[in-house]
Amino acid sequence: KERDPHHEYFQQAAGSLLKSISRPLRNYPDLNDSALMERLLEPERVITFRVPWIDDQGRAHVNRGFRVQMNGALGPYKGGLRFHPSVNLDVLSFLALEQTVKNALTGLPLGGGKGGSDFDPKGRSDDEIMLFCQAFMAEFHHHMGADTDVPAGDMGVGPREIGYLFGMYRKLGRRHDGGFTGKQLAFGGSLMRVEATGYGVIYFLEHMLANQGEKLDGKTVAISGAGNVARHALAKALDSGARVVTLSDSQGFVEVSKGLTAKHLEAVAEIKNGGGRLGELADRFSGVRYHKGKRPWGVRCDIALPCATQNELGEKDADALVDNGCQWLVEGANMPCSAAAVKRLRDGGVVFGPGKAANAGGVAVSGLEMSQNSRRESWSAGEVDQRLREIMERIHRRCVDHGGQRKTDYLVGADLAGYLRVAEAMAGQGVL
Ligand code: NDP
Repeated sequence: KERDPHHEYFQQAAGSLLKSISRPLRNYPDLNDSALMERLLEPERVITFRVPWIDDQGRAHVNRGFRVQMNGALGPYKGGLRFHPSVNLDVLSFLALEQTVKNALTGLPLGGGKGGSDFDPKGRSDDEIMLFCQAFMAEFHHHMGADTDVPAGDMGVGPREIGYLFGMYRKLGRRHDGGFTGKQLAFGGSLMRVEATGYGVIYFLEHMLANQGEKLDGKTVAISGAGNVARHALAKALDSGARVVTLSDSQGFVEVSKGLTAKHLEAVAEIKNGGGRLGELADRFSGVRYHKGKRPWGVRCDIALPCATQNELGEKDADALVDNGCQWLVEGANMPCSAAAVKRLRDGGVVFGPGKAANAGGVAVSGLEMSQNSRRESWSAGEVDQRLREIMERIHRRCVDHGGQRKTDYLVGADLAGYLRVAEAMAGQGVL
């Protein structure tokens, strides 16, 4: 707090981690070391750089590029790039810390990092996006590589952007390797990477439910977001027989009391991929109600899956969910619930699945993409999905083992299991 008083998101994430682990760490005297924790909370390296580019009208712009290389004790720094006007060092530092614990939880040899730019891709032409990506890489290629720092996508950075970024990385570095994940299949991407985070959220949720003798079939689910994570969580939830009643975007939410279907999902993908607003769904289908400027947490549901962005669910939203009988909340996005909301949910008896465990499927398949690239192989969708399922099961098992068998505290379980793995690697490498 004293060093970076304005880094409020980072303080929220770090405060939550320290709160979770401080008591149970007494059982691990070798790793209960405040100097070690202090090092964990300080990024190994932060890179900031200027990204100058020229738009279609010939006007010059300058954006900020960032990379927070948080912790490399377990492997190359790994974490996505986000292009969004809200990006700053505070947001990326919190994401990098979450990513470090999450990557450790997967059991794969991955360090943690996060980067991106305050560039807003909305409304930009394909040429502008490409020029921006190339300008970003003109500097960033110096700091990354398959064995040092392996970025991927995040909000505003999908397969198209990864393609442009990777192309420039290959050209400048004169190499074709697994320096990026989330690549298109045509040049080294992995099947199932696009689906992995959303599917993984549902696999994790199903384990949480099974742990209490419950199943997803027939449950009512509210999802926020209409991007990669939300749409694939919706698709997998439908496969499991859930009734999903909402989706949202930054302008409002849609509600379908009878439940969204594959047809709705197809239309949402078309609307969002074309840069449209989710509200257009109500123009295309009867039975879809659009709530402009609102969030979906006042709707009655058994399960809530916030899959949009950080702090999208506050204290009042949490109260509304508890009052409406919501029993499980699983974070698809990174830190979508404010600290006060998490407390209200847990006090209200909602079983809380933190994002660092539940949304780890994306980075897990990125890890599998790195393995495929270094072995010059590509695995079938079935094989990757099977490995993803196994990884999500293992993450769930680690949460239960560290968060209590009987009434599992998933937040403590995820934080403790992730911390222990990173801390052990850091301790073994000396004071660095
Ligand atoms: P996308 O950019 O594909 O989608 C983000 C969605 O969130 C959009 O529907 C967007 O609406 C909505 N949104 C953005 N800002 C707000 C806001 N302030 N209020 C309400 N809604 C908002 O991103 P992803 O689906 O990839 O990522 C979503 C979350 O999941 C992020 O927290 C990301 O870090 C996390 N995550 C993603 C992974 C992945 O593999 N993609 C992996 C692990 C975590 P609009 O369309 O109007 O902008």
